[in-house]
Amino acid sequence: MRVTILGCTGGVAANLRTTCLMLDSDILIDAGTGAGDLTLDEMLRIDTVFLTHSHLDHVALLPMLADVVGPRRNTPLTVYALPETIAILAQHMFNFRLWPDYTALPSPDKPYVIFHPVAVGQTVELAGRRISPLPVRHAVPGVAYQLDSGKASFVFSGDTTYHAPFWEALNAIGNLRYLMIETTFLNHNTAGAEASGHMRPELLAQGLKHLNKPVRLLITHMEPGNEDATMAEIQAAAGAFKPEKLKRGQVFEF
Ligand SMILES: [Zn+2]
Ligand SMILES: [Zn+2]
Repeated sequence: MRVTILGCTGGVAANLRTTCLMLDSDILIDAGTGAGDLTLDEMLRIDTVFLTHSHLDHVALLPMLADVVGPRRNTPLTVYALPETIAILAQHMFNFRLWPDYTALPSPDKPYVIFHPVAVGQTVELAGRRISPLPVRHAVPGVAYQLDSGKASFVFSGDTTYHAPFWEALNAIGNLRYLMIETTFLNHNTAGAEASGHMRPELLAQGLKHLNKPVRLLITHMEPGNEDATMAEIQAAAGAFKPEKLKRGQVFEF
């Protein structure tokens, strides 16, 4: 398995892209603005999208991706997400007002997009690649994903605040190698982190204390402009884990 980081910031500005990971050349995990850097040929190779949750920084390019590849594909783009996420996108995005309902166009029996529900505890296997939703806690329903090649696992937290079951799930992964985890806010922003269901460095350190195995720790989803300050706080709270600031374009093979 090969993960390419297309976007890993908590907001936009020049050269910053929101969350999107490409798994091999045919799967996206989230469809934030990072997806917009794919060439048309690369977009046409994407068969499947897994969404962590419904927030715009993770789904913004899904409707436009469907729009550009739909007429050029013979099969629908398959989108996996929680039932709650699917319901939100159906009501607010693919509703003929914000965007055409490509789950029913160009015809209901041959749409550009089909949704499949996922659930924590139910692994999706695609050509030997095992993708498993893990529990998280955020402002809206969400999941993390474990990407398991058989040799090793890469876990992407999606958006979450501290959530004990997430860390228990990590401890149960025998071949865990990478943990890509969000740290959106600085420590002083306790109210913001609580209200919006995000991590602060102290909450990340609290979780890492429960982790019973070494990981390569990749930090994502920091607020634009606060990256260095956030990394300094993470270093102070959890320096033993050698936290790395994730960068767009990085590739992980496992
Ligand atoms: Zn979110
Ligand atoms: Zn987000």
